[in-house]
Amino acid sequence: MVKDDLIEGRNRETVVLRISSVKPYSAELTSEQLEILADIAEQYGSGKAHVTARQTIEVPDVPRNCVDEVVSVLESHGLRISSTGRQLRNVIACSRWCLYNVKPMSELACELNRQYMNVRLPGKTTISLSGCDFSCVRSRTSDIGVIARADIGLTEKRCKHCKVCIKEPLGCQVDAITLTDDGVVIDRERCVRCGFCWNVCRPGTIEAKRTYYDVFIGGRGGMRPEEAKFLGSVEGQDALKALIQRIIDIYQANAREGERISDLVKRQGMEVFNGRA
Ligand code: SF4
Ligand code: SF4
Ligand code: SF4
Repeated sequence: MVKDDLIEGRNRETVVLRISSVKPYSAELTSEQLEILADIAEQYGSGKAHVTARQTIEVPDVPRNCVDEVVSVLESHGLRISSTGRQLRNVIACSRWCLYNVKPMSELACELNRQYMNVRLPGKTTISLSGCDFSCVRSRTSDIGVIARADIGLTEKRCKHCKVCIKEPLGCQVDAITLTDDGVVIDRERCVRCGFCWNVCRPGTIEAKRTYYDVFIGGRGGMRPEEAKFLGSVEGQDALKALIQRIIDIYQANAREGERISDLVKRQGMEVFNGRA
């Protein structure tokens, strides 16, 4: 834990603890961890907790002089104080059980949180890992946003005309699939490579020919929202991790103190990342 990890409370004597799970991963908590959090809120705080947009749990009104004690209880149960300030914020990802995941991202979120925990950066930095194009964890408004993609195709397995892939709520959201007497036809122009149809087609008529990750940078929310810009696509988690490391290296080497990735992109253009990514 570093000083920036503590959020000032409503009075000088208290702080807000922002907590996430090291294992299973940030937003995924075991029932035992939930009990520990409830106990901490009850014993040290005001009996309340707040779930944040970045998949952490804030426990307010914790006396400053109890922080070390609480941190040691948290750490013994696979929990940690999550960061604020000029560091990487808690890396967020889709739940691993969502049916639509092209690729589950929670293990990678875990890994990145471990790797960049307490690393000083020029400014606040967010990484969001979406398992499909729905982008439920807001990859397009993050400093580094990842969206898993699937290029789909048809197999030899006969279509059973169940219509699951073409109608709400599980089917194609952009009307890219038409069902004919001979089976399904896919409109490649309309397809956004979300992989839904592949995930729901039980007979295996639709398959993913290739899965990969689209990477976006320079997004942000807040008072000056920006949509992230597409940087490139990579296949496999090793290549994705290497690209994220490269983005962070370039950011650290080129950004002024306090600048976010979006500020650096505005000042130097995407070339600063494109040239070396
Ligand atoms: S982005 Fe896709 S995979 Fe992730 S939670 Fe949303 S629907 Fe599920
Ligand atoms: S992968 Fe393409 S065709 Fe399949 S559900 Fe997504 S958008 Fe529709
Ligand atoms: S392609 Fe698969 S999900 Fe779609 S109608 Fe045929 S069998 Fe059903």
